[in-house]
Amino acid sequence: MSRQVEDFVPLNPEQVSIYSCGPTVYDYIHMGNARTALVTDIIRRYLAYRGYNVKLVQNLTDIDDKIINRAAEVGVSAKQLAHENGEAFFEDSQRLGIHPADVHPKATEHIPEMISLIQTLLDKGAAYVIDGSVYYRVNQFAEYGKLSNRKPEDLLAGARVEVDERKEDPRDFDMWKAAKPGEPAWESPWGRGRPGWHIECSAMAMKHLGETIDIHAGGEDLLFPHHENEIAQSELATGCTFARYWVHVAFLKIDGTRMGKSEQNFILLRDALDNYPTEVIRHFLVSAHYRHPLDYNPESLTKSEGALRRLNNCLDALKKYEGQFEENGIETSSLQDAVQVMKSQFTAAMDTDFNTAQALGAIFTLVGEVNRSLSASNKAYAPALAQAYQALTETCEVLGIYNLDAQDSSNVEQHDQLVDLLLEIRQDARSRKDWDTSDKIRDRLKELNIEIQDTREGATWKIVS
Ligand SMILES: [Zn+2]
Repeated sequence: MSRQVEDFVPLNPEQVSIYSCGPTVYDYIHMGNARTALVTDIIRRYLAYRGYNVKLVQNLTDIDDKIINRAAEVGVSAKQLAHENGEAFFEDSQRLGIHPADVHPKATEHIPEMISLIQTLLDKGAAYVIDGSVYYRVNQFAEYGKLSNRKPEDLLAGARVEVDERKEDPRDFDMWKAAKPGEPAWESPWGRGRPGWHIECSAMAMKHLGETIDIHAGGEDLLFPHHENEIAQSELATGCTFARYWVHVAFLKIDGTRMGKSEQNFILLRDALDNYPTEVIRHFLVSAHYRHPLDYNPESLTKSEGALRRLNNCLDALKKYEGQFEENGIETSSLQDAVQVMKSQFTAAMDTDFNTAQALGAIFTLVGEVNRSLSASNKAYAPALAQAYQALTETCEVLGIYNLDAQDSSNVEQHDQLVDLLLEIRQDARSRKDWDTSDKIRDRLKELNIEIQDTREGATWKIVS
């Protein structure tokens, strides 16, 4: 909100509270959504690394125009569509190595809390009812616009304000929408209807984290009006600061333009995960600071693959020194200094508004030092290598770019190359009319559940179960 880096002081030193705006579950999430979710995951991991106890709440918006419209298109109930996409979201998040939040509240399970918050605002004169809908009266909140830093006239020009002649002020927004025929609806003091998007987050954040939360995160597209409206509702109702620190994750771009569903310009996270290992995608997503745009393209992902191969090779070579901290002798090593430098650079980078790009730089500088040290004639002694191993695995765990799965993924690549090699040998045999060898390769691969298909363009293979 102040537009500068500030010291982080949690309201309650015993527990840092984070609220992250989750997906509207009308479809699978794309890589841009994944970036926001991943940033939240890394903030939480880093705060834990720094010794904080963290409570993370990430909501699911499971009732919304988009859900109702999509459900009608595909011919299922809104509830069913939201449920299926909610499950898919959890599945995709898990595949990306994102730890589940402590609470994943659903909007439809918090209707009483939303009604009560709306009632509070009505009682304070900060809302009004028209034909069963309830609107927030923006001019009652003097600080409206303080997060997005917009002047009242800009707020009008920039907002995607629905034309609704009945509103007192075009900036006013609905907190409760009167039911339309055929739409899901709940009972309320103002008649049947459903909540607006903004009130959902205010009510769920306060229910699970209290009136003031430490960190509120979301995509940069949510800054206005969504987060501005969350502040207006929450702060007018409670008289307390709603969120002490805001984190807005920049867009992911593809071919230079914003990745988004409405732009019809997106890569689904699950499709990306079918093509690249988890750690490669994570490395790519943290390769830029979260406030900077990042461009999704095959070249960047290939770069991330190369970087991870270097990291994994280094850690494989270091693993045998794991835990060998004790050794007699007073030998000192420049590698030990490099380990200390890396740890302090990593912390300095992450302390400066979670600068993951610089943090990665520190990690890979140490990887270079380790490789030099391992290939040198006078190798660094074991305790230095053990320290390097520990420092690298701990920091990589914060970014989630190293775990055993990464090992598996490089094995997968090698496996594919080996099968290709066998096919090549079989092709050579066939051109010599050596049918015995050709059949033997086909049959033995079949035993390994690898099926060869001969096509006009040559042989292909697939794994069958
Ligand atoms: Zn929200």
